[in-house]
Parts: sequence; C-alpha cells; structure tokens
Amino acid sequence: MQKWQCNLGMERKAFTKKSTDHSDTGHFSFSFFCDRCDKEWVSEIKPFTGGECSNVSNDEALKLLWANEHRTAFDEANLDARLKFNHCQTCGKKVCDDCFCFGEVREDDVCVDCKGRQKCE
Ligand SMILES: [Zn+2]
Ligand SMILES: [Zn+2]
Repeated sequence: MQKWQCNLGMERKAFTKKSTDHSDTGHFSFSFFCDRCDKEWVSEIKPFTGGECSNVSNDEALKLLWANEHRTAFDEANLDARLKFNHCQTCGKKVCDDCFCFGEVREDDVCVDCKGRQKCE
C-alpha cells in the first residue's frame, strides 16, 4: 500500500516520547511507547472515510481530506494514550502501569525509577 508523507508538526506532539505512525491511504493507526520500558500500545485503527466520497475525484483534494482525518485520528489516539499511560509527577515520564506506582494522593504518583526501583504494591 502507498504511504503518504505527513508532517504532524510541532504542535502535534505525541503524549509519550516515542510514537510511530502506521497510517496509510486506507486507515489510521499509531503506536505509543512507554518512556521507561518501551512497552508498545497501539491505538484503535480508524478507517479513512474520505475515500468513500464519490465527488472527490482529484488526488490533491483526497490528500487534503486524508491529512485532515489523519490529524484528527492522531489527536484521538493521543488522548487515548493519556489514559493508557501514567504521568510521573517527579520526572515527567509517561509510563505504562508496570512502570508506575500509584500513591495515596495524586502527588505521590511516581514512576518506578523515582520510587527508587522498589517494587510497587
Ligand atoms: Zn513501562
Ligand atoms: Zn519518575
């Protein structure tokens, strides 16, 4: 399948440090990785709907539609990533549940590194 280049731009920053774009001309999908252990989480696959629009005949218009849907799909995936990963209050890392210790209060929520590599309860 053909791949379209897309520049997400600085304002489209992924929630985690590392993310991958699997999107192609037919669907949108993104991976996000835990900042600590690199565990991968793949966002829900969204189909590109602009392709079904019969009055879009030229490639440029289709590419614009795609870029629009791509941006929206990324924003949605990014929001989901916020729920999947935890934000360490100390170092700011976005980590998976395995790398996170939930404190009694939100301010005590830290990653395993900041907890001093102790095992979390
Ligand atoms: Zn992790
Ligand atoms: Zn931390």
